[in-house]
Amino acid sequence: MTASPLVELVGVGKAYGAQRAVEDVSLCLAAREIVALLGPSGCGKTTVLRLIAGFETPDRGRVSIDGRDMAGVPAHRRPVNMMFQSYALFPHLSVADNIAFGPRRQGLSRRQVAMRTAEMLALVQLETAAAKRPHQLSGGERQRVALARAAACRPRALLLDEPLAALDRKLRDAMQFELRRIQRQLGMAFLVVTHDQEEAMGLADRVAVMAAGRIVQAGPPMQVYDRPVNRFVADFLGETNLFAGRIVASQGGWVRVACAELGGELRLPSDQMGSDCWLSIRPERLALQPVSQAAVGEAVAAQVENVVFRGAQRHCELRLATGRLVRANLAKVDGWCPRPGEPAWLAWRAEDFRLLPP
Ligand code: ATP
Repeated sequence: MTASPLVELVGVGKAYGAQRAVEDVSLCLAAREIVALLGPSGCGKTTVLRLIAGFETPDRGRVSIDGRDMAGVPAHRRPVNMMFQSYALFPHLSVADNIAFGPRRQGLSRRQVAMRTAEMLALVQLETAAAKRPHQLSGGERQRVALARAAACRPRALLLDEPLAALDRKLRDAMQFELRRIQRQLGMAFLVVTHDQEEAMGLADRVAVMAAGRIVQAGPPMQVYDRPVNRFVADFLGETNLFAGRIVASQGGWVRVACAELGGELRLPSDQMGSDCWLSIRPERLALQPVSQAAVGEAVAAQVENVVFRGAQRHCELRLATGRLVRANLAKVDGWCPRPGEPAWLAWRAEDFRLLPP
């Protein structure tokens, strides 16, 4: 994070009548940074974008852009632009005219508008579609026109509301790379709203996870994935196995946690206080060992229920003696993988468990 953020929200709150959409949100976006706002439907993500864009006024707190308080500054005077989920392209205008719309309104000369439009068409690789109307484009092409149109006015930051939601899975994956390339070439900051955790992790330099109007955790994707602060984040960002636990002893930065669902105790590095807790372990951190050999390290007996082939990984569901179902994702290179119905040792390294507050 740079010393002076491009966009800064401090203690921002917004309610619609009795409905509190956003509560005490503080968030920074640095120049040239991609931040993803991630959270379940209705948690307030779009409202945050609208508050920055100037389509809504905060009830509390401050929105600043480039160090300037935006209170009283109308949307069209803010150096940001929003790309809507629906794209909102003008159906009666050609691709080129959709893109030229903003620069024309900015009062650029005809020559400047033509140059800017050509530059944006090249950026999104749609030079040959310049004369087409939006209905003559594929979903992916429409998405790129919307991006070019939103960026054509050269805002300092683009606010993108679910930019890839309308695309199918494969196109969405490809567009993640494309969006990053375009963002780098434009040198703009992007604030991207999404409810898709893979998209958020794939796209962003930092993710901010929201729940019920608040930001629960923000940081680089890997950090938030590996070190979730609570059960909600662990469960929302990626897959995880969550177990209810009870801290039975605590000494010198280590705790012993009783876990009925695992059928035993774990010793973990932690200085968490209290007794109730959650234990979280990612499926890819679990390993399987054949029961024909003695278990290596910490392990419990399990029965394999399901194995699903997923290209680079095999996703296994295992039933423990306690009745608990556990997910283990094995990399394809791992040699041994039992079939459904076979017994196995389910093994782990204690440090791969995260201890989370109740
Ligand atoms: P989604 O992922 O479904 O788009 P979101 O996280 O973007 O959801 P918001 O659109 O910010 O959520 O809405 C947050 C809350 O505020 C919701 O409960 C929503 O119903 C409410 N809300 C949003 N806009 C308005 C409005 N104009 N009037 C009344 N309530 C609103």
